[in-house]
Amino acid sequence: MRTVSAKDITNAVRDMCIRANRNQPDDVKRRMADCAAGEDSATAKEVFKQLLENIDLAAETGLALCQDCGLAVFFVEVGQDARVEGDLNEAINEGVRRGYQEGFLRKSACDPFTRKNTGDNTPAVVHYDIVPGDKLRIGFMAKGGGAENMSRVTMLAPAEGWEGVKKFVLTRVAESRSNPCPPIIIGIGIGGTFEHSAKLAKKALLRKLDDVHPDPDLAAKEAELLGLVNALGIGPMGLGGKTTALGLKMLVSPCHIASLPLAVNIQCHSSRHEEVEL
Ligand code: SF4
Repeated sequence: MRTVSAKDITNAVRDMCIRANRNQPDDVKRRMADCAAGEDSATAKEVFKQLLENIDLAAETGLALCQDCGLAVFFVEVGQDARVEGDLNEAINEGVRRGYQEGFLRKSACDPFTRKNTGDNTPAVVHYDIVPGDKLRIGFMAKGGGAENMSRVTMLAPAEGWEGVKKFVLTRVAESRSNPCPPIIIGIGIGGTFEHSAKLAKKALLRKLDDVHPDPDLAAKEAELLGLVNALGIGPMGLGGKTTALGLKMLVSPCHIASLPLAVNIQCHSSRHEEVEL
């Protein structure tokens, strides 16, 4: 049994919240630069130029990439042979408190009815999985309101199949237009149950943009649907262009014979996420 201290978890979470809010992941930045080069429209090129300048400025100055520093979402894989000394959930929340305070990040968590801000961006939304091993793997994502609000879950009839999935995703992106600050990244969860599909869709956003799905059929489906999304022409910040989405990632799980759960979780171009292993 390996012991991981609550203090180490808090420090790691604090650092992740700050770093991720200031630094665009390399794969996303590279994809943005590539897509900018492939745009024909002067407006789309100019939007990309400004977005890329913003990324450089955030890294240089230590200012947040976006004023909306998001709700703090975590995917935590706990090795079954790891023992946490202290309260794991509280350790994560304390890291969020410190990170958002010390990093001068906007706190966006509030009561859903009174709208009173909780003051420290907690509680974080934390998903746990027990996995083999003695390590703790913590994935963090800052989820802004604009992109999260455009996300949806639906229960398709099984007969709708892949055609139904494509139709729902394309309609969702088309209706979202500029609201999620495109170019977006689309996480898709298919299968499981109602809530499991939503979790899969969000977790899919942690995949690197340049990874290729290990299942060739799903890799082909991701490429097909990304092509269809980009053919919508919404473009960077909704001002037209070839790049509506930088990437589209799917996670798939078996489901009930009577169901076809489908979740679409949209992330904006400011795709702030990071993973650490303790
Ligand atoms: S959708 Fe993303 S880029 Fe747009 S305001 Fe929200 S956090 Fe910022």
